[in-house]
Amino acid sequence: MAELAPPARAASSPVPPAPETIHGWGGGPGVRVRRLRPRDGAAVRAAISAARAPGAIARGMGRSYGDAAQLAEGLVIDMSGCTGFELDRDAGAVTAQAGVTVGALLAELVPAGWMVPVVPGTQHVSVGGAIASDIHGKNHRTAGTFGDHVSALGLLTAAGELLELTPDSADGMFAATVGGMGLTGVILWARIRLQRIGSPLLSVDTDRAAGLDDALALLSAPGGSHRVAWLDLIGPRPGRGIVTRAEHLDEAVGAPDRATVSSRVTVPAGWPAGALRPSTVGLFNELRYRRAPRRQRGHVEGLGAHLFPLDALAAWPRLYGRAGLLQYQFAVPAGAEPVLGSVIELLRTRRVPCFLAVLKDLGPAPGSPLSFPLAGWTLALDLPRAAPGIDDALRRCDELVAQAGGRVYLTKDARLAPAAVTAMYPRLAEWRAVRDRLDPDGRWRSDLALRTGLVAETRR
Ligand SMILES: Cc1cc2nc3c(=O)[nH]c(=O)nc-3n(C[C@H](O)[C@H](O)[C@H](O)COP(=O)(O)OP(=O)(O)OC[C@H]3O[C@@H](n4cnc5c(N)ncnc54)[C@H](O)[C@@H]3O)c2cc1C
Repeated sequence: MAELAPPARAASSPVPPAPETIHGWGGGPGVRVRRLRPRDGAAVRAAISAARAPGAIARGMGRSYGDAAQLAEGLVIDMSGCTGFELDRDAGAVTAQAGVTVGALLAELVPAGWMVPVVPGTQHVSVGGAIASDIHGKNHRTAGTFGDHVSALGLLTAAGELLELTPDSADGMFAATVGGMGLTGVILWARIRLQRIGSPLLSVDTDRAAGLDDALALLSAPGGSHRVAWLDLIGPRPGRGIVTRAEHLDEAVGAPDRATVSSRVTVPAGWPAGALRPSTVGLFNELRYRRAPRRQRGHVEGLGAHLFPLDALAAWPRLYGRAGLLQYQFAVPAGAEPVLGSVIELLRTRRVPCFLAVLKDLGPAPGSPLSFPLAGWTLALDLPRAAPGIDDALRRCDELVAQAGGRVYLTKDARLAPAAVTAMYPRLAEWRAVRDRLDPDGRWRSDLALRTGLVAETRR
């Protein structure tokens, strides 16, 4: 990525742009920031030199749900303009600038027979965001996290130094950057090992699950590597759902399918929050459950349509109205399955409606201190931010999760307290020590970092 290597001397600092309001993917009122959108490494370095008080944070596609990619009254370095990439067919690897999206990579790589080994539930995430959150896919048990496939990355530090970090570096800087939520510096580029695939199609096995235990059993059964359960938590039998297990097909059969999804409908701005209520979602869930086959094997589906179903509906968080949604995604270790049921039951008892629930199995924890996955289960719950009593209910859920040795996913979070983060991320001190070496003046900060105490307010 020679074009991203900044010159020895920084370009002159850009004039700070006018303030604008931005927010996380979950919506809500947002915060005022100044946003710079550099197009190459020199411009990123110039942006960093402009990052005086009260600090700065990198932003990719803004698909983190809460406040990870924003800093109220601060500078946001929006990397979505840095979109170059090169495929090395011989090595089976791609070197990509940080702003390239997973969707852009797949559109080019899949027809050439290559797959990004780990993709999230949306194609609209950047390489920088995927590394900073160390994202996992539906195949975590077999593929690990995104960071497991990064063989090198370029990090621009607060001092303007360009570091090339690799997983085997003993200084811990690579591990602190993977999953480090943008708080070690700006990732400029990354080299990602790819997976060879035979076609853009998946063979999908589907089963209806009668309840949570059934879903857990189906997700534990042998079968495809991309596994996920959609659960209905609104209807009369909470926990019933649909489990799919999908595997790449070796050869293309039938018409070639696209690796990405085009949104066919956009939810209009100003959508009334009241339109999304338990009765309407309950009806939708009932239809969805009944339309799913009881048991189906080997159904052929396009990779994009299967892996990114939500991308068909653009701006879908607007369904939650102006207050937006909170996604509560947590992980608990194998053996702590009852906590999944306890959290579901607690929210139900407190009348906090869950409009979308997704359960996945997770493999072993990655090596990065702030990475989210741990061997066990993860449940992601979409909840209306305006639901009465939601804050108290989720605080109680945090206790249940932490007591079980689990954790809440930082990239989805908008409300965790510092004590909860300390309890859930036992390697926090190790991460902080490396971060403090990389950013002794505490220039990198986000609203998430300040709210949760990842970065102390008093630094700088
Ligand atoms: C519909 C949907 C489905 C999802 N499914 C999954 C899933 O299955 N698994 C999963 O793990 N996640 C999932 N996510 C979450 C998403 O993958 C992460 O939040 C990801 O980080 C978003 O990438 P982004 O480019 O939008 O980053 P942003 O939201 O812009 O930023 C996220 C974090 O990355 C940092 N960052 C971004 N770019 C850089 C950079 N160049 N250098 C340094 N730091 C940077 C930011 O500072 C911030 O801390 C999903 C999100 C949505 C909306």
